[in-house]
Amino acid sequence: MTVTAEPATTPASVFHGVEETDDNRWYLIDDLRLVSASTVAGIIDKEALKIWAAKLAAQAAFAELPAVVIASRIKPCGNTGSKCSGEGGHDSQERCDRCPCLECKACMTAWLASRHVDHTRRRADEGTRVHDVAEWWALHGEIRPYDEDIAPYVKSLLAFFAEYGLTPDDFLVSEAIVVNREDGYAGTTDGIIIIRADRTDAAAKLVSRVTGIPWKQAKKRGITVVLIIDFKTREGEGPQFYAPQALQLTAYRHAKTIRIKNTDIEQPMIPTDGGMLVQLRPDGFTARLVMTDEDTYRRGFLPTLATATWVFEHGPAAISSRTFVLPETLAARRRKAARDAATTGDAPQTITHPAA
Ligand SMILES: [Zn+2]
Ligand SMILES: [Zn+2]
Repeated sequence: MTVTAEPATTPASVFHGVEETDDNRWYLIDDLRLVSASTVAGIIDKEALKIWAAKLAAQAAFAELPAVVIASRIKPCGNTGSKCSGEGGHDSQERCDRCPCLECKACMTAWLASRHVDHTRRRADEGTRVHDVAEWWALHGEIRPYDEDIAPYVKSLLAFFAEYGLTPDDFLVSEAIVVNREDGYAGTTDGIIIIRADRTDAAAKLVSRVTGIPWKQAKKRGITVVLIIDFKTREGEGPQFYAPQALQLTAYRHAKTIRIKNTDIEQPMIPTDGGMLVQLRPDGFTARLVMTDEDTYRRGFLPTLATATWVFEHGPAAISSRTFVLPETLAARRRKAARDAATTGDAPQTITHPAA
């Protein structure tokens, strides 16, 4: 897809919002529906996540042991999979006669099996609020009031700022949508920051790792690097990173344009020297430089994007019983369409019969 530059008098582009399914997102920009870079990275299977999800279910079973024992003796209510509440249904607080009973063996099994879903939802909400604190700081230079439950992450965020001597001015961008129409994706970057070697030893060492200049020299010369960053909150102890996180950051770094928040203005992407994940945990933070170069983009992200696009656009048809249709069925469908057209008064289709 190529979009030619529009005249300067019209807004560069219009953002219509984000379309979300269970765990996939698309950015609606102009008349395009661009898959989110995090959705793309998310299609890579992570074995550790399965083990983690199973562990949560096992822990919940032990925590609720009496209820589990009782449930084991209650016959399935038959409503376990009912989608009566939520979107298109009644309020989640209300009850109807199609509601899952939440007490039978089947309902208990479903509840245990979905512990990771609830956990992920809660963690995503915490993550969003921590991001909001970071964004506010970058824009206004102060830490705005926040809920007590995210206090440990905010403390780690401040420790990160202090370690590298960052000030709000060092955020060239915070929370912005990045777009790549050509390759067909979009995303939201947490920020693009300047690391200045003369601020702290840690900053000098970070600059040194990116540039190859010895850190004391980098510090003396006041060398700077520009990094695209992504904040990740993690509840567990100690750093843990996954390769798909590097792909996500790579995609952001290789976007073509970046949108100025709350405007329809898109400007060329800001060039960066590298990408860094900043993991915020209750026990501290880890700032980790990750591979985001051209090779990671070409051989890592783009093939994953192609696979994800295939899965979303062609996956259902690839295995559908409707894909390889018997010629007789096709002929019958055509006859039915012709009959329907005749009865609804549409222009009759000409059906030619072989000469008798
Ligand atoms: Zn209900
Ligand atoms: Zn039930």
